[in-house]
Formats: sequence, C-alpha cells, structure tokens
Amino acid sequence: MRQVVLATKNLGKIKEFERLLGEFASDIQVLGLKDFPDLPEVEETGDSFESNSLLKAEAIARYTKLPALADDSGICVEVLNGEPGIFSARWAGVHGDDLANNQKLLSQLASEINRNAKFRCVVTLVVPKGDKELILVESGEVHGKIVDSPRGEGGFGYDPIFQPNGSNLTFGEFPHGEKDKISHRGQALRKIAPQLSKVL
Ligand code: IMP
Repeated sequence: MRQVVLATKNLGKIKEFERLLGEFASDIQVLGLKDFPDLPEVEETGDSFESNSLLKAEAIARYTKLPALADDSGICVEVLNGEPGIFSARWAGVHGDDLANNQKLLSQLASEINRNAKFRCVVTLVVPKGDKELILVESGEVHGKIVDSPRGEGGFGYDPIFQPNGSNLTFGEFPHGEKDKISHRGQALRKIAPQLSKVL
C-alpha cells in the first residue's frame, strides 16, 4: 500500500486530513508523527505559510524517507493587517492554547465594526526520489467574519469564532464533515489529492 506521512501533531488537523484523504485517495495509508516517536521537533522559522509548510514537509520526508504532507494554516484578520497569520497557533503566547487565542482575538476586535477575516492553508507534499525531491504545493482560502462571542463545540482552533460568508453558523457549529466542503484545508487538499495519487 502507498504511504504518506502527515507532518502535524495537531489532532484537529489530523482528523480533517484523514477524512479528506480517505475521500479522494482511499488506497493511500496515512501515517502520523506518532508512528515516528523519535522524530525531531521542526521549528517553524519561516515568514510565510508557504515557507513553514515546506519546512515541515521537507524535514519529515528527509527523516522518514517517505512522502510527507504538511500544511501551514491560520486566520488572517483584515483590521489587524493579516495577523495572527503564521502566528495563529501561538497568538496568546502558548502554542496551541485555543481558548486563550480566541479570547485575545475577540478582545482585540471588541469595539471593531470591520470583522472581516479569512482562513488560509498551504499544503506541501515532498516525495523523496533518490537524491532529489518532488515538491507539490497547493493552497485554499475561506472568507468570513469574526463573531462577537464563541459558538459551537465542533472543530478546533478559531472555529467557534469564525463564520464563513454565506452561512449564519460558525465553523464550530457546522454539522460533522460539512466544514471540509468549503474550508481552506478542504480546498487545498482537493487540489493536491489527484496529483498525490499519481506521484506516490
Ligand atoms: P500551524 O500548525 O502552525 O499551521 O498552526 C495553525 C493554527 O491556525 C492552528 O493552531 C489554529 O489556531 C489555526 N487554524 C488553522 N486552521 C484552522 C481551522 O481549520 N480551524 C480553526 N483554526 C485553524
């Protein structure tokens, strides 16, 4: 069976990747970083979603010698000039503290009328080929608004405070699986999945 390693420890992302890859490339076995417990931590030192996504996929592909798929994603708020952006996971200081990140963003926008924001995701696939590497990159975006207070228990990260345009539900309130149809990660993975089947 063909294999790909998902270069993330984020459980929310892993669930979405597995669902989406299962839909488009069901004959591909998805391995996680838990299958490689000694893997060194990859520092996200890039200054863009593109560079961080490539950093993660390259590091994991070189270490495991297997094809690796990484995403770098985040929320970009118009009045904050695109921030939190690449700093989304650690916006309130501690990496992965979703509650604190959401609270910080809501208080930054407390008296703000313009609540426009977008989620952006860049996925990178690195496939080792002898002493060379094949690299594929795709991206997706979903536009919407930051609501006044969190709603919904689903999803992860900023989902409870992000309402995509055209809906009156936050991603946190979306029925199971519905987010994938329009999400930034869903769009990027739908673009890369057909190519994935050809190059693995
Ligand atoms: P990364 O692991 O450096 O790519 O950080 C991504 C961070 O962006 C996550 O920890 C979340 O805070 C946020 N994020 C990315 N995608 C989503 C999503 O689909 N829903 C909610 N938050 C997201």
